[in-house]
Amino acid sequence: MRYAETGFNLEIDLTRGSIERVATDPGETELYLGGLGTNAKILWDRVPPETEPFSSDNLLIFSTGLLCGTPATGANRTIVSTISPQTKLMAYSMMGGFWAPELKYAGYDKVIFRGKSPNLIYVWINNDKVEIRDASHLRGKGAGETAELIRQELNEPNAQVAAIGLAGENRVYMASIEQGRSSASRLGIGAVMGDKGLKAIAVRGTKDINIARPTEFMELCNEVLKYIQVRDKNPVPGVMPILAGLGSPKEMAVHDEKWHTENFSWGNARQRIKNYWNEEIEKKWKESMENMRTRLISCYNCPMKCAATISVPGISTYMMKCFSKLTYAMAAFSDLDFGFRIAQRSTEYGVDGFSTPQVMAFGIELYEAGILTDHDMAGIPSDKEGRFYWLLDRIVRREGIGDVLANGTYWAARQIGKGAEVYAHNNIKKHEQLPLKLSMLNPVYFLMYCTGEKINITQIEGQFPQAPFLTMKEREDFVKDWIQVPDEKFKKYLLDWEPRGEHSNPYYPTVEMSCEIVDWQEKMHYIDDTLGMCAGLSSFPLKPPYHIHNYPAFISSATGLNIDEAKLWEITTRNRTLIRAVNVRRGLRRTDEKPPDDHWKKRFPELETQLLDAYYKFKGWNNDGIPTKESLHKLGMDYVSEDLQQRGILKDER
Ligand code: SF4
Repeated sequence: MRYAETGFNLEIDLTRGSIERVATDPGETELYLGGLGTNAKILWDRVPPETEPFSSDNLLIFSTGLLCGTPATGANRTIVSTISPQTKLMAYSMMGGFWAPELKYAGYDKVIFRGKSPNLIYVWINNDKVEIRDASHLRGKGAGETAELIRQELNEPNAQVAAIGLAGENRVYMASIEQGRSSASRLGIGAVMGDKGLKAIAVRGTKDINIARPTEFMELCNEVLKYIQVRDKNPVPGVMPILAGLGSPKEMAVHDEKWHTENFSWGNARQRIKNYWNEEIEKKWKESMENMRTRLISCYNCPMKCAATISVPGISTYMMKCFSKLTYAMAAFSDLDFGFRIAQRSTEYGVDGFSTPQVMAFGIELYEAGILTDHDMAGIPSDKEGRFYWLLDRIVRREGIGDVLANGTYWAARQIGKGAEVYAHNNIKKHEQLPLKLSMLNPVYFLMYCTGEKINITQIEGQFPQAPFLTMKEREDFVKDWIQVPDEKFKKYLLDWEPRGEHSNPYYPTVEMSCEIVDWQEKMHYIDDTLGMCAGLSSFPLKPPYHIHNYPAFISSATGLNIDEAKLWEITTRNRTLIRAVNVRRGLRRTDEKPPDDHWKKRFPELETQLLDAYYKFKGWNNDGIPTKESLHKLGMDYVSEDLQQRGILKDER
């Protein structure tokens, strides 16, 4: 019997129209656990590096995490992996909501798509019965509208539907996959879904999942629930509101946006507006929020209510994820009322709420600079909000200039030329980053920005405070109940961290400490992504209920595997290394690993070189960021080093 996982994947070939239920190898679970780990193994084994994102041979994998569907609070993530049209590297976006647990209850751990359907279709998974159905009547429909129409058509109100909108159908590089109150948005995975002719996947499951040691497992789940209640009543003092509690940044519950509106950049990462937040603005934004936010809502099996239903008069109600609350408003130099309105259209179109506003602001900036002309922008309205709607409509339809902007700022700038590249100044690995432009280099963030392969800083940061506490008293209070640290030394790092002087950024945390902090932060995210756990309850907040000390017991009691901390760390190192290997095989090198030139005003080239050198070494990678033969051997990954050697990527002496 298999525990926690079902032991079966669905393999669907959209070219041939075939559907197979395939038993999986339990040995792979022991090595990679599941979710992102086993997704990476499948991509390594079955998608050669020559495969283009829009090739029939590219796979699109929808995976549950190992704990999804168990009673573990917050274990509801769907991990979608493929090759990204934006970066040409491995994309692995997560979505919350309800889809992954439902797939487990239907009896599958993953759905793996290959090939392309000649016509637009959707897939209906109803326990053992799986069908490919015509979706021609859904062409051009919004993602939420599609989900609703499919539920009606199937007469199955409880079906969970992951769908793309027009952007995905038109292979827009920032197309998302939308599901319930969540979406898998980064790296253009919606475009790959559209390229495969797959409009949606509806799933309904009513089976059980086996737990190896249920009494022990339920006790652990109850402890987590108790901790959530305690933390809810005792927010962490002295940190920004979104880090004080639990959950993914609970933007829908927060009114105070001083930190984000004054620290993040407006427009296409163009400028900061210091002292933006005042009483009048706060009152106006609060009114918009209270008038339009109708209900706070949660993902499957979670009490945190991080999202909300938004009802804007005159347009259909939609569900807002945490951060799109601000991205459109700030990109357009507008306000929350506009942000809520345009986000409805964007959600139906199915686009990434981080990249899309930046791409539109980039278009406006090029127009103002005379690089895009009246001819390019013929018909654009004169008001700033109207311009954004106009651009959004053209981007998702790939009409006129929208066809160029639909490729994201990096590729669009190269197509446009005439100096447009300078305006695409917020990219790493060809992808838009958080619109942040800061002053002093932060060594920990430098490493995360450079080496992160998720391309979303919020999905590898967390656990260690973003800034030092001002007083020793605050630091001592913070470390008192900091049980989540993997090692007591991290407390010392924090206690000694000063806002100014010798023990401040950029030379403190030291190079060595920075490597350890980044490794810890990133590993926790990778554990979450194998388990399907929401980062909002684990790797993102400062003091979460799930951490390195209780995860092994959760995994062991759920699966029956014998996992301790060291073993979990090793598996996670293996998964992280495998993803690096997938990308290295696709051409990722040290030269790609740099933050935008203007991300910090004060830069330290010598220190930055030292940081990257040391971090690569720490990770068991050579000086070009390629895993070494020795480190691969230690992780039982000789199959990777042999492949890299055969391709001439890894030389014998390395
Ligand atoms: S913490 Fe928030 S985002 Fe995470 S599962 Fe719960 S409701 Fe969803």
